Formats: sequence, C-alpha cells, structure tokens
Amino acid sequence: MNQYTRSGATLANQVKGLGIENPVVLDAISSVPRHLFVEQVLAHKAYENTALPIGQGQTISQPYIVGKMTQMLVEHGVTSNVLEIGTGSGYQAAILGRVFSQVFSVERIRQLQLIAKRRLQKLDIYNVQMKHGDGWLGWESKAPFDAIIVTAAPESVPQALKSQLKDGGILILPVGTENQQLVTIVRSGDEFIETQHEPVKFVPLVSGDTA
Ligand code: SAH
Repeated sequence: MNQYTRSGATLANQVKGLGIENPVVLDAISSVPRHLFVEQVLAHKAYENTALPIGQGQTISQPYIVGKMTQMLVEHGVTSNVLEIGTGSGYQAAILGRVFSQVFSVERIRQLQLIAKRRLQKLDIYNVQMKHGDGWLGWESKAPFDAIIVTAAPESVPQALKSQLKDGGILILPVGTENQQLVTIVRSGDEFIETQHEPVKFVPLVSGDTA
C-alpha cells in the first residue's frame, strides 16, 4: 500500500463523517487516486476535502460534494446510464464509473477533456464515454438517461437536460450565480418534480460556446 492508497481511504473517512455513508460510494472514493487528477504541485493537497484548481479557471470539485451527488443517485435507485455535464479533471466521472455500469461525460474545454480521457484510460476505467461539446445540449444521441448530474452551475435548468431524462429519471444540478442551491428534478411522465437541497458553490455552466 503506497502513500496515496492510504490517502484515498482517509478521504473516504473524512466524507463519511459528513454523511456520505453508502459503502459503494465510499469504496469508490477510497479506490480512485485523486492525486492523479490534479497537477503534481497540488498532489499533496489531493486528499483534503477541498476543491482545487485544474487550470483554465476550472476546479476539481470538493470530495464531499462528489460523494453527495453520487450517493443521491444511488439512493434514487440508479444503476447505469448516467450523464455528467462538466468532465473537468475527470475525477467525478471516474467515481461514477466505479459505481454505475455505463457513464457519459461532456466537457466544453477540449484541453481538459483530452487530459481527463487519458487519466481514465490509465486507471483502466473503460465504461465512461467522454466527448467535447456544449453540455447545455446534453448528449442527444445517447439519451434518454436514468440520471444526469451537472457539475457546473447554470442560472436556470437547461431544457435539453430535462427532455433527455427517462421517465422516473433524476437530474441533479447546482442552480444560481452567487447563491447556488443543489436541486434535484425527477421526471414523472411529462411532469418534473423539483426539490431544493443544500447551498453549494460551483463554477458557472458556460452558455453557448466551446473552447
Ligand atoms: N466534475 C469535475 C468538476 C469540473 S468543474 C471534476 O470532477 O473535476 C466544471 C466543469 O464544467 C469545467 O471543466 C468546465 O469547463 C465545465 N463546463 C462549463 N460549462 C460547460 C458546458 N456548457 N458544457 C460542458 N462543460 C462545461
């Protein structure tokens, strides 16, 4: 066991103390080496429960919120077919790949998308498909999804994401600008049942272009 495998377990312990108790989610957090998802100069901070810069003005999310959103999907009964918007470092995608059988992830910054893809290959995670594109549009050709999670905050809920949910499917996303709220939306036929959860802080979901 090297320094970093021990650290993955430490990180799982930290988030457990904050209410992430699902064993499958905790196992995923223990087993994914988060230091490989940040630049080497920040590797020593990778096993702290904090967001960190990943370049291009973006961040790798705080492990607690990664665990929280993943646990919410598990509690909803999701097992496969999950779309993530905002691949970033690829860390959340890797966790999703360990928990669910089929995962898709979209990132608007090509450079980040390419690096994330390589990281998952290196970890032998092959059930996560990634693409460069505008997440406001979802991933039409792979829809409908059992679940969609958005790891950047739009001001309002993107319509395409709602329409790409299966009946009974769940969308989890932060909504807002300065004051953001974690929101879940569950599809029931043509109805969408919205629930507000805790306050959160994500980078903005950029609208209308790709870089
Ligand atoms: N899930 C990531 C968090 C990355 S931060 C991780 O685990 O590291 C949010 C990411 O969303 C950024 O990489 C940002 O470029 C991306 N993003 C912002 N607007 C987007 C859009 N319209 N479509 C796709 N990705 C977007």
